[in-house]
Amino acid sequence: MNQPNQLPIYDLIIVGAGAAGMTASIYASRYKINHLLLDGTPGGQGLLAGTVENYPGYVSISGPELMQKFIEQVEHYDIKIRLEKVGELRKAGLPAGGFEVKTDKDTYQAKTLLLSMGASFRHLNIPGEEKFLGRGVSYCTNCDAPLFKDKVVAVAGGGDSAVTGAIHAAAFASKVFIIHRRDEYRAEPNWVEQLRQNKKVEEILSNQVKEVKGAEKVEGIVLEKPYKGDSELKVDGLFIEIGQMPTSALTSMVGVELDEQGYIKTDPKMATNVPGVFAAGDLAAIQGGALFRQFITSAADGARAVFSVYEYLHQSAPAPSWGRKL
Ligand code: NAP
Repeated sequence: MNQPNQLPIYDLIIVGAGAAGMTASIYASRYKINHLLLDGTPGGQGLLAGTVENYPGYVSISGPELMQKFIEQVEHYDIKIRLEKVGELRKAGLPAGGFEVKTDKDTYQAKTLLLSMGASFRHLNIPGEEKFLGRGVSYCTNCDAPLFKDKVVAVAGGGDSAVTGAIHAAAFASKVFIIHRRDEYRAEPNWVEQLRQNKKVEEILSNQVKEVKGAEKVEGIVLEKPYKGDSELKVDGLFIEIGQMPTSALTSMVGVELDEQGYIKTDPKMATNVPGVFAAGDLAAIQGGALFRQFITSAADGARAVFSVYEYLHQSAPAPSWGRKL
């Protein structure tokens, strides 16, 4: 029982409402785990995704629409995502262990934590990149491609984001260069086939962007090696789609172990090295597992993590507050 003036103690706090965190909430609701779901901007990277054609149940759906469906399903179980930005996590020293989560609005306590804060865009760190951000440089083709109608753009990268981004950009731009540092893409072969069928796209392989140039806005990019005899390419925009970095800034506060790239190490049950702390989605690296980050893998991580939370709460004392509203 909570004492008067004491903070309510949730069974679980989920930090991050992307595909992993929202699936976790749906499962937590069904397992009657009293939980909070916190995120300043629910939807995560899904909000930036273009057309999603590999999430079962939808032949084709936009990323934001898919995330809206997730939100509706979370809310169907009477959970309102708290639009709060988490600033601090710490071990709370509750009788059965536990954690404190401070947001920009409040402080909460829970017996377990699920970290599903996802990842953010990786930067090229080249001259001009920061200067022209929002003036021709973008990290989100799916968001900004319409701004380049009938213009010439370049997309840097060779993964699914770059290849799908180039295809999307070609729906607006008059010409799209895709520039990849190797001669082989990392992207799904189906997307590469679609890219190569697109007459507006020109591939520049085994080359890299070294500088962004312009006066007020992007006017060109400098390549590492000359292409068709010239190291400078005239473009109106550069989309940098070279993957993501884990959002792991908060993780050191509770002592979870990260891998060399900054992703949270988990076991196959999504448990971290800290008892009671679990991780899921783009931020989690299952040790020995494949590095494969999709909506469906994030959702699966979230479901698996909640099952592990359920097992953990059952093993811990005092008994969890199943079904009791806090
Ligand atoms: P990614 O798979 O990590 O690919 C990043 C790409 O950027 C790689 O081709 C990499 O080159 C290149 N790169 C990395 N750092 C670079 C640098 N400093 N300079 C130049 N190039 C650099 O990232 P992603 O494409 O953003 O995809 C992230 C995850 O989301 C993946 O799991 C992906 O499958 C998933 N996703 C899926 C879809 C889909 O429709 N199924 C769409 C978007 C994203 P190397 O190949 O040489 O390493």
